[in-house]
Amino acid sequence: MSINGMRNIGIMAHIDAGKTTTTERILFYTGKSHRIGEVDNGEATMDWMEQEQDRGITITSAATTCYWNKNQINIIDTPGHVDFTAEVERALRVLDGAIAIFCAVGGVEPQSETVWHQADHYDIPRIAFVNKMDRLGANFYEVVKEIEEKLHANPLVLYLPIGTENDFTGIIDLIKMKELKFEVNSNGSEIIESDISPEYKNLADKWHEKLLDNISAFSEEITDRFLEGNDIPAKMIKDAIRVNTLNRNLVPVFVGASLKNIGVQPLLDGVLDFLPSPFEGNPIVGHKLKDNSEITVVQDKKGPALALVFKIQSDREAGALSFIRVYSGTIKKGSAILNINKHKRERINRLLRMHSNRHESIEELHAGDIAVVVGFKAAQTGDTVGSEGYQVLLEDMNFPEPVISVAIEPRTISDQDKLLKALDSLKREDPTFTVKENEETGQLIIAGMGELHLDVLVKRVTSEFKVDANVGKPQVTYRESIFTKVSHTENFQKLVAGKENTAEITLTVEPAGKGKGNSFTSEVSESILPREFSDAAARGVNNAFASGIMYGYPTIDIKVTMTNAAYDQQTSSAMAFETAGALGFDAACRKADPALLEPVMNVDILTPKEFVGEVISHISTRKGVIGSLESKPAIEHIRAEVPLVNMFGYSTALRSLTQGRGTFAMEFSHFAKKEGGI
Ligand code: GDP
Ligand code: MG
Repeated sequence: MSINGMRNIGIMAHIDAGKTTTTERILFYTGKSHRIGEVDNGEATMDWMEQEQDRGITITSAATTCYWNKNQINIIDTPGHVDFTAEVERALRVLDGAIAIFCAVGGVEPQSETVWHQADHYDIPRIAFVNKMDRLGANFYEVVKEIEEKLHANPLVLYLPIGTENDFTGIIDLIKMKELKFEVNSNGSEIIESDISPEYKNLADKWHEKLLDNISAFSEEITDRFLEGNDIPAKMIKDAIRVNTLNRNLVPVFVGASLKNIGVQPLLDGVLDFLPSPFEGNPIVGHKLKDNSEITVVQDKKGPALALVFKIQSDREAGALSFIRVYSGTIKKGSAILNINKHKRERINRLLRMHSNRHESIEELHAGDIAVVVGFKAAQTGDTVGSEGYQVLLEDMNFPEPVISVAIEPRTISDQDKLLKALDSLKREDPTFTVKENEETGQLIIAGMGELHLDVLVKRVTSEFKVDANVGKPQVTYRESIFTKVSHTENFQKLVAGKENTAEITLTVEPAGKGKGNSFTSEVSESILPREFSDAAARGVNNAFASGIMYGYPTIDIKVTMTNAAYDQQTSSAMAFETAGALGFDAACRKADPALLEPVMNVDILTPKEFVGEVISHISTRKGVIGSLESKPAIEHIRAEVPLVNMFGYSTALRSLTQGRGTFAMEFSHFAKKEGGI
């Protein structure tokens, strides 16, 4: 089959609006009209698809490829939540356009507002699908009004529903001016086109005029023909809609009921007609590894290879499946490629295209396209792979500091290994959390970006990896630092097994400045202290950074200088200097105005205008500082800095303050001195 074009799309929806059902129908119709089973090499379908196989369809894949009218459509799974910025950003950058699904009964719900604004932020062209027209209380025209008023978008209605609720039987194509009915016996595969019934003629004429009137604003040619009463060819209308959907002047609106097999194929046509190809999407900006300077990546299959690993899913047989989007060049099966983040060459053992219920081996993958690499060993989600001569990073390597942690402990010793394996596997999929062992209790501590982040991780450990574990309460992870400069001489003397051990060092500790990190330098020359001993002192100090000062939290931004030292030929040892380093650091810091630092979050809140006063005063009671307040047509956007410890349970609080309509997202901002200890 020769492919004319390609689309990388996401489907965004409020929970329950029908994302799963619509995706399944899309895969059903696309699978039916284009049997491509022949190209399959008959490889066994993978384990992780087993469950879905029963239903004949899988949508667990991070990217599923299907074909419609000789075009390839890659459907990228978008996260259903808006909390972990990195994950949402990644999904939104891999796709070029999106279908936004609304429920004909619920309309534009709070979560759809948040997702919509996020897509606005990334400039993603969208088409809208008003689903569930068969449900009691469905009101197409009300949803269109909400898209305009709540989202402040410019909806361009392309189809009208015929009937509503139980009597919803088909749709009217407002460009062709025809009625479309979907044959029940063929599960809607067969579409019967007929003239518009007299009953709907007036309504259809009115909305056809509205459509032309709306696009006239963007096309002089159409305006002229419209005013002169001349016919406007469908192609001219569609071309104008396409251009203005891509530059986000308007949002074409489709209608149907996925569950009843009504309206899905026209939506697929809309994906091809109005959403961008990979080469029409937003410019791809990366950063050069060498000097971090910005570079715009030209999407060209003849260019140097460059691809983003946007998702890793583990498969028991194949190991890690790395989903990649190629932005430049061509990637070949059997070749090696450079993991630019890890400075490591990795093998592409196999390239797989994921379809709804099977996968297909392919030889190469070109710029714009999406598929799975089997064979990467070191790759983590977010890594860029490419060529030696073109070392560009597509995603920021610096993950925000994990600021919240939870203790996790297997119920039985036998589960300990399973737990470690599970965490290891999750770590490749999601590099933004850390695992550490608490030295005193032996418990594993997982630290992450937020409450929801940890919640999802822990749920996956217990349900997906089937580890029986006790989980503690989430805790804020503090840091420790100092606020004055102090010099201290540590005179270490200790009898060990009847033998005296001595070491003497003088350390200066001082605040290094925000974000500078911890450091140790020695000003003591080798003639005064042998290399072996100063290295040992450095080791002692460096280890002490992690174990804190007063409370055992890791220290940050402390500069340590060894200014003097003395040793004794008979009694000094490396061990003595290492201990002196640790003890000296601790003693010096205790005199240097030590304090606990707490994570402060950047909090972004979206709320309808009527609640803005209450939301702001509530943030103040939580010791938040309002940074800015931005009025959008239907909502207020509040930006604030709030100590993380005061953000526990905030989603519940915000919901009750705003009758469920406010939403928020947060990310780490900085560490600040905590008043009043723990
Ligand atoms: P998701 O949460 O967005 O993935 O929504 P689902 O596809 O899982 O659908 C949520 C519920 O709505 C399920 O019970 C579906 O059967 C039902 N549903 C989906 N589409 C329609 C529709 O067109 N009409 C009706 N009546 N129900 C639908
Ligand atoms: Mg779903």
